[in-house]
Amino acid sequence: MANGKLVSRVEVPGGRVRWTYDSEQPLSTQLVQLAVGKFRLVESEGPGGLPLRDVVPDALVEPTAEYRRLTPDHLAWLEERLGPYPFHRYGVLVGDTDLGVALETQTLSLVPKADLLGTKVDAERNLVHELTHQWFGNSVALESWSDLWVSEGHARFYERLYSEAHGGDRLEAAMKTAYAAHDQWRKDFGAPAEPTEPNLFKRMRYDGSALVLYALRERVGDATFQKIERAWVSGFKGRTASTRDFIDLASQVAGEDLEGFLRPWLYGAKTPPMPGHPDWVVDPVT
Ligand SMILES: [Zn+2]
Repeated sequence: MANGKLVSRVEVPGGRVRWTYDSEQPLSTQLVQLAVGKFRLVESEGPGGLPLRDVVPDALVEPTAEYRRLTPDHLAWLEERLGPYPFHRYGVLVGDTDLGVALETQTLSLVPKADLLGTKVDAERNLVHELTHQWFGNSVALESWSDLWVSEGHARFYERLYSEAHGGDRLEAAMKTAYAAHDQWRKDFGAPAEPTEPNLFKRMRYDGSALVLYALRERVGDATFQKIERAWVSGFKGRTASTRDFIDLASQVAGEDLEGFLRPWLYGAKTPPMPGHPDWVVDPVT
């Protein structure tokens, strides 16, 4: 099984089988998915007849069905906010593995079985996170790894927004907690757009970067924020884009220069004040 569409399956001399897949649309190299094993293909349809196919080990088809069936709802919820899903198909590859993380492999997110066998709130957070990446990080790809905050920040932001509306924790409470830790995270992991750790995937790239988007939304208002988001995913569809591009686009859509606002949030050593929340405080760095 691989990303995209199965084009052919041909028996070749020597008792082998050649499987050919077409990625159909530009594909980020770190999002190639190639799985070899015994899987069942579970096909269904998403909004507008979008082809869905989950790839699941036999023994996990039934136990994971309840949460896998939520994908059309997740797609509809995200499309309402971000516009059309950017690819020709979607689905999850259920990993019969202890792998501690899921991965937004393009059009076929890798989800370890544990993510689909726990609570509904946790399962939906993980599923919505990887699905959000199809817009942020996949269709609009990273220009450099320092731009990872755009991808993980958005995935975490929408994951939390969805969860808040479906029985999970409140976004604002999570953001207040991240705000308190932000100076410490800047010191330990580098500012959101300037990672300093060899492992980029630290808390700063998740809640720490969702916090930058939260600050931007507080600054420009929800209507303008949504316009920025839609302009980003439509304007850079199928291309790479950078932090520079994000600042420029946000400024253009908002009709004001946001460089002076976003730059300290993204690169500064100290966390700026949170618009609309003058009472929020940053904990001292230890
Ligand atoms: Zn992610």
